[in-house]
Amino acid sequence: MSYSIVWFKRDLRWQDHAALAHAAQNGPVRCLYVIEPSLWAQADVALQHFEFIRESIQALDAHFRSLGGEIEVHVGELPLVLSKLWQESPFENIYSHQETGNGHTFARDIAVNKWCQQHQVVWHEFPQFGVVRGLKNRNRWQAAWEQHMAQPIEEIESLRFWKANSVTPLTMLAPQHLQHNPPLRQRGGRPLALATLNSFLKARSIGYRGGISSPLTAPDACSRLSAYLTYGCISMREVVQMTRAQIAQIPPQAVKQRSGLTAFISRLYWHCHFIQKLETEPDIEWQNMHRGYDNLREHEFNLAYFEALKSAQTGWPMVDACVVMLKETGWLNFRMRAMLVSVAAYPLWLHWRPVGEWLATQFLDYEPGIHWSQMQMQSGTTGINTTRVYNPLKQAQDHDPYGKFINRWLPANRHVAPLLDLAVATREAKSKLHARRQDPLVRDGKNEVIEKHASRKVFSKTRAAHIKQPVQSNQMGFDF
Ligand SMILES: Cc1cc2nc3c(=O)[nH]c(=O)nc-3n(C[C@H](O)[C@H](O)[C@H](O)COP(=O)(O)OP(=O)(O)OC[C@H]3O[C@@H](n4cnc5c(N)ncnc54)[C@H](O)[C@@H]3O)c2cc1C
Repeated sequence: MSYSIVWFKRDLRWQDHAALAHAAQNGPVRCLYVIEPSLWAQADVALQHFEFIRESIQALDAHFRSLGGEIEVHVGELPLVLSKLWQESPFENIYSHQETGNGHTFARDIAVNKWCQQHQVVWHEFPQFGVVRGLKNRNRWQAAWEQHMAQPIEEIESLRFWKANSVTPLTMLAPQHLQHNPPLRQRGGRPLALATLNSFLKARSIGYRGGISSPLTAPDACSRLSAYLTYGCISMREVVQMTRAQIAQIPPQAVKQRSGLTAFISRLYWHCHFIQKLETEPDIEWQNMHRGYDNLREHEFNLAYFEALKSAQTGWPMVDACVVMLKETGWLNFRMRAMLVSVAAYPLWLHWRPVGEWLATQFLDYEPGIHWSQMQMQSGTTGINTTRVYNPLKQAQDHDPYGKFINRWLPANRHVAPLLDLAVATREAKSKLHARRQDPLVRDGKNEVIEKHASRKVFSKTRAAHIKQPVQSNQMGFDF
């Protein structure tokens, strides 16, 4: 009896899973996750990512077992694993979600596509976020996002497994070279994703507005859904629909919660907006979004500064405390992430690529599209965003005035002198960047980046009513 392969990647759920739902309509399914050694040898992965995936697959497998099936985990390169399965028992269809991953998964997808053509296997790919493959025109993007989020949740009427009731125990061992698994990180799996969303929608969202900037309040005030979205334990559409349903339910006097949830939805939008940049231009993982900023920092990388940053020894307590928190928990709020990158990019004058590689291993929620776009934005190499420089001393005053956060993560008796004079180094960095920005060639190149990547979300109140023309917004609509 023939079957369809459902290839799970970063979509580790059974509900609202377009690939699984469509495969189920076509007969028995064989669910597959592949541990690709070459992928796990990349510089941007860590043990914490593997373990989170393992926990999520365990939850998925437990669900499938309750229905008499399983998810098979194979180790090997793609498309070799597909060849082996196909030779043992041929199949005609593969179902999966589209993935906007790093350069490695992009190249692997090209190889899988070629293999499918050679073996007359049809590969059905479905979008899982509001990200548009082959997008021609950014002006229509917002409408496409809304349309994706409004579609009904994918339901499975009946799921038949290939070789039902002959399941084998799930084994999933981490490649031995992998390192870094923060003791206090979030755990994977759909049940935990749902519990996190529910506690946020019902209670924690009250603290979202006003609570997300300080690293003291943010761990509770933020939704904490990022890792669950990155690995697809819950779908973006489920989160958007459940949030909108909650907004519709809360009483009119719950003003704070309503505005928190509305602000949260705008972050969900930004999630896809940033991933779209990498989907449209995969090179931004490696190259400056605006090539006019090439050779600005590339040849001045100070390894000693980088080591000091990674080992929480910059001498700026707010920076060092954030590095320690990140090491212990795998998570930081947006403002503190932006501050870390800003310190690396301006006073320390470090190029975003090595810093981004290190942070990718530290962030449990590492999502290449958001990560590389944000690394570039906070480093001033997109050419379209206003330079934002976060002063770590001011951040400490504003967001940790009594030193509670710093005391929580740094030893009380530590004496580390600052690496350099913050004010002088920041001033020099800004003037180097601004000199580049004034270059006529750099100014001219800006329009091309705007055309390709800038958000069209903000509509001019005066013009929109008359001509429905989107006004390009180069700024993110955040109000931290
Ligand atoms: C340098 C840098 C790197 C980052 N790398 C990542 C990353 O690899 N993965 C990641 O998910 N987020 C990344 N972010 C964005 C943001 O910091 C995290 O999404 C957020 O801290 C996750 O916590 P949360 O789920 O509680 O956020 P919430 O505030 O509850 O937001 C809800 C969701 O919205 C999305 N979101 C929130 N803020 C942003 C943003 N600024 N840009 C795009 N999407 C956003 C995320 O999916 C998040 O889960 C990065 C930010 C910076 C400055």
